Order: sequence, then structure tokens, then C-alpha cells
Amino acid sequence: MHHHLLPVHGGYFCQHHCQYFQWLQWSRVCYPAPGFQHHCDTKDPHKHNAAVFVMFIGSFFLRFLSAALQLTSSWSSLLSVAVCCRQDWTQMQPRMFSQVFFFCLRISMEDPIDSHPEEIPGVREDLENNDIAAAAAMIQQYLERENNIPLNIAITGETGSGKSTFVNALRGMFDDDEGAAPTGVTETTSEVKPYPHPNYPNVKLWDLPGIGSTKFPADEYLELVGFEKFDFFIIISDTRFRENDVKLAQEIQRMKKKFYFVHSKVDDNLRAERRKRDFNEEETLTKIREDCVHRLRRSGIESPQVFLVSSFKLHLYDFSLLHQTLERDLPKHKRHALLRAMPNISLEIINKKKKAFQSKIKYYSILSAAVAGVPVPALSIAVDLALLVGVVTHYVHAFGLDIQSLKRLSARTGVPYTDLCAVIISPLAAAEITTELLLKVMTQLVGVVKLIAAEEVSRLTLTAGIPAAMGLSFTITYTILNAIINQLADDAHRVFAKSLGL
Ligand code: GDP
Repeated sequence: MHHHLLPVHGGYFCQHHCQYFQWLQWSRVCYPAPGFQHHCDTKDPHKHNAAVFVMFIGSFFLRFLSAALQLTSSWSSLLSVAVCCRQDWTQMQPRMFSQVFFFCLRISMEDPIDSHPEEIPGVREDLENNDIAAAAAMIQQYLERENNIPLNIAITGETGSGKSTFVNALRGMFDDDEGAAPTGVTETTSEVKPYPHPNYPNVKLWDLPGIGSTKFPADEYLELVGFEKFDFFIIISDTRFRENDVKLAQEIQRMKKKFYFVHSKVDDNLRAERRKRDFNEEETLTKIREDCVHRLRRSGIESPQVFLVSSFKLHLYDFSLLHQTLERDLPKHKRHALLRAMPNISLEIINKKKKAFQSKIKYYSILSAAVAGVPVPALSIAVDLALLVGVVTHYVHAFGLDIQSLKRLSARTGVPYTDLCAVIISPLAAAEITTELLLKVMTQLVGVVKLIAAEEVSRLTLTAGIPAAMGLSFTITYTILNAIINQLADDAHRVFAKSLGL
């Protein structure tokens, strides 16, 4: 039988499928996965027509089912594609796996919420070569590597300049907290000491002794503190920067490392200036900043970057700008580590975290679907719950919504812990994440219940089998993680506002 092939979105469909395809287009399947034209391969016209008929009826049924369940059009398209794959099920099994995965990947790559569309090198190839296991292993490796990227931040400055207080503030800690860097006006920092972030131990803040207190010249000082390991240096001063700071900065530059000047305790400066009759905060800040830059330039630093910070009020002044600058200067693979460890001191940081997590959902969804590819009868929710518990715990920590982080925030801000908890809506915040809790939350998510029902129906009535289950598992994981991220980000917004007394 001769088939007329029609060009369709980079692929071809035979005329016999034309009607079907128009219907598919109507149901908004606009992304035919590569290789779909193989459905035209059959030589027997009866078999061919029967296959088209089955696809047509099957898709219709699914379309109605998904409409009844109010699934979004792209997910219902996915169901249609799963049935479409089903047609050559016996011969095409390995290929189908890759097609469904590939299709899922395509949809999620083109997802409007995916603000950082990026691909793990090699994964697409593995999926095309039907090697799902290799693709999943590669994704897992990538995610593990990314979660363990080291970031070493050196904080240096003279005694009393506010280094330890800054280190504690960055770690979301109060000076009295266990594990906090000791602070005080007397000599407290005389050795090189790492302070790991409480939730991300791979992010370390190093409280370095002031160069003045060591009596070493800048080059020896840098050798002594082991400068190679640091990603960048923050040079702190609570007054104008002095000769020692300049010498150190020049040596850091010679060693091809980055440095930033932080003028600490700017709240003190403002308090003193506030007494003046014509006080204007913005003008005062500009004056202090310009004065620092001017002096540093005169001492030989070409384009000094100076940030005015109060460790007691990181949400004010230049701290957000400092974060943006660090993010811009860091290599791409380190940015995520910095962002996760950042305290939630602005809506912008919370939103950035949300977007960064959203961009990774597709990978967790593929991992979860790879597990669902193994058919387990009567397993109603074909997702990897253990994997989800780990991911959700990670989200809760990054949004500062775990019990410990909330207690630290309460200690830092003086807002009672119960008041902070009172604005939280997600049952996953301020709680220990367990499989039971996650299952409970999942069943409360309206869309997910529908998807789970769809999965059950597809298993029972259509025996759409593994590809549909995989597609649905992908969809379920995707929907769950997206909903949870949104809920937690909203909670983080509310907790942030509450901590400021808003
Ligand atoms: P270090 O010796 O450089 O580690 O300095 P510390 O962190 O111990 O701080 C010295 C003193 O300055 C302490 O009493 C802190 O409470 C105070 N301090 C630190 N940062 C700030 C700040 O941003 N604003 C104000 N007002 N005081 C600060």
C-alpha cells in the first residue's frame, strides 16, 4: 500500500493518518515525537486500517476521559501519544519507552515555567538510543554532583569589624546559636576557621583573622590562610578601608581571585547621621559608598566594588546587590550552591530559588518515571516516594521552612516561633518530611488525585500499559513537585513578611 507522506512539524504522517492527525492537532498534540511515522510501516492494509481505527477510538476515549478529569491539554495529549505508541507495542517496546520519555522531556523543556531551560549533556542521546537506565544514571549523577558543589567564601577584616556577625547572618544564625561564630568587641578571631552552612555543609564561610593582627605581609598572609581554596574574598571594614585592606586586595588580585569590599554596621552610620536636620538616607548611603570607592581608587584599586551592609538587617541596603554581583561573577555551576545557601532576605531571592527548583523538576520526574517503567500491578501511585521525600526535604530547607531554620529565624528576629508557624499553610513546612506525610499532601492536591485516577483507569480499562503509566508517573511527579514548590515559596514569602513584622 502506498502512503502519501505529509510534512508535519519536522516529521511526516501518511494520508491515512491525516484525519487522525487533524484530530490530534485539534487536541493540541503539536509536538509529534521523532519516529512517529513508523506507524505507517505496516504492509497489510486491513491491519493498517484496524490500527488507525484503534488509535482513533483509543485517543477519543482518552480525550473524553481527560476532559472529564479536566487535565490540561498537554497532559491529555501525552495520554493520546501513549495510546498512539501502543499500536505497535509488541515490536516497538524499547522504542516506545524512549518516545514517551522523549516526549515528556520535550514538553517539559518547552514548559513556560522553565526559566532555565538546560539539558544534561548525553541524556537526550541516551533516550534516543532507548537506554533509559543510562539516562536515569546520568541524571542522578548530575543532580548529586550539583548538590555537593563546594563553595568556600573567605571573610577577612580587622578585629571588631563585624566579620563573625556577618558570617552568622549569612548562615541565618543568631550569635547565641549553637555552632555560631563567636562575636564580641575583643579579639575573637585569631585562627582560620570554617563555618559550614547549617543546611548545606558544602558551602563554607571562613572567618579569617585580620591581616593586621597576624603581622604578616599580604602575600604570606594569603599563603597562610590557603587562598587557593576560596572562591572569593569579602574584605570587611566598619570604617573607611585602610592600608592593610588595600594591600590585601592587591595581592588577592595578583593571585587572580575575586574580592569585594563590605562596609559593615551601616545601620550605626545612619543612626549617627539621622540626628542631622537635613538627613536623607539615600543621600547619606551614596556619600558613604562614594567616599569608600574614592579612597580605594586613590590607594590604587582600579574599580573597587563596595557594598554597604548591616548584618542585623540583611534585607536593607546593599546586601541584595552583593548577592547579585556574586552570582554574576561566579562560574555557572557554583551559582546554584550560593543561591540555595542564601538566607531568604528578599522576595527576589525566594523567587530565584523557586525558579531554580522548577527548572530541575523535569529531571526528578524522569527519574521517577524510570522507576514507574517497571510495571508493578496494583501499585496505584507509580512514583518513587523515597526520591520525592529527599527532594521535598531539600526544598523545605532551601526555603528556610524546616523547624531548625524557623527557630533560628525566630531567635534572630525576635518574632515568636509560633507566630512564624501561624502564617504557614503547607503541611510540609515546620514538619519532618516522611513518606506518610508526603502521601497525605499528594492526595490533597486536586490535580494529582485526578491524575492518579487516570492512571488507574488507563491500567484497568485500556491496558495502555507501561508507556502510559510512565507518562502519567512523569506527569504526577511533575505536578506534585511544581505544586509543592509553589506552596513552599508562598509560605517563605509569608514567613519573610512576618519576620519583618509586616
Ligand atoms: P569580628 O571581630 O570582626 O568578628 O567582629 P564581631 O562580629 O565580633 O563584631 C564586633 C561588634 O560589632 C559586635 O558587638 C557586633 O554586635 C557588632 N556588629 C557587627 N555587625 C554589626 C552591624 O551590622 N551593625 C551593628 N550595629 N553592629 C554590628
